[in-house]
Amino acid sequence: MVDQFLSMKLEEKRQQYKCGSKYVTLSQIPVWSVKSNKPSAVSNGEIAGSKVSVFVGDITTLEIDAIVNAANGKLAGGGGVDGFIHRAAGAEDLQAECQTLNGCETGSCKITGGYRLPAKYIIHCVGPVGEKPGPLASCYESAMNLLVANNLRSIAFPCISTGVYGYPNESAAKVALNAIQTWLNDPNNRDKIDRIIFCLFLEKDVEIYNRLLNQYFPD
Ligand code: ADP
Repeated sequence: MVDQFLSMKLEEKRQQYKCGSKYVTLSQIPVWSVKSNKPSAVSNGEIAGSKVSVFVGDITTLEIDAIVNAANGKLAGGGGVDGFIHRAAGAEDLQAECQTLNGCETGSCKITGGYRLPAKYIIHCVGPVGEKPGPLASCYESAMNLLVANNLRSIAFPCISTGVYGYPNESAAKVALNAIQTWLNDPNNRDKIDRIIFCLFLEKDVEIYNRLLNQYFPD
C-alpha cells in the first residue's frame, strides 16, 4: 500500500483532511440501544447490539479505521458515494492505488489506504446490480473478514447497491442487518472488532433502519 498518510501522527494527518475540522470521531457516535436512556443489560460479556451504531450523514467525515465504498467492478471511481469517497480521499492518489488492484468481483471487496479521508482505510465492495441477496450479503461478510484480517476494529457501511444499482432499500437493509447479525453472532468474530456503523444518507433509510434495528439487535 502506498498511502503516505498512514504513517502520519493523528494531529498531523488531521491537517490534511479535505473535510477540515468537520470530522466525526468514534467516541462521538453512540452505540445502538433500543432503550437509549438506560444502560444496556450486559450478560455474558458484550451483547451484539453494543457493537452497532447508526450514523446519519456523510461517510467521508468518519474518523474510524475503515469506511466501505460502494464501488464498481473496475474500482474506477464513479458517482454516488463512490464519487464522494474518491474526492474526499484525494482522487489522484486513490485512483493510482485502485488501478493496481485489477478490479474486483461482485460480492467481494478490496482494501486501499484512505489518503486525505479521516478514515485510515477504504474497503471497496462491489454490490450487485438489482435485487440479488447472495452477492449483497457477501459484500458485508467479506468486508468484515477483510477488516479483521487487517487488524482493524471499526467500520462504516453505506447502503450498498441501493443507489444507482437499484436494490430496493428495505430488502437491502434486511440483507445488510442479517449479514452483520450473523457475523457478530459468531463468537470467534465479536471480540475482534469495536464498532460496526450503518451510515445512512437518505431519510427513507433512516426510517427503515430505525424500525428494523430493534428486530435484529434487541437489547
Ligand atoms: P450503488 O451504485 O452501490 O447503488 P450509490 O453510491 O449510488 O451506490 O448509492 C449507495 C448509497 O450511498 C445510497 O443510499 C446513497 O444515498 C448513499 N450515499 C451517497 N453519498 C453518500 C455519502 N457521502 N455518505 C454516505 N452515503 C452516501
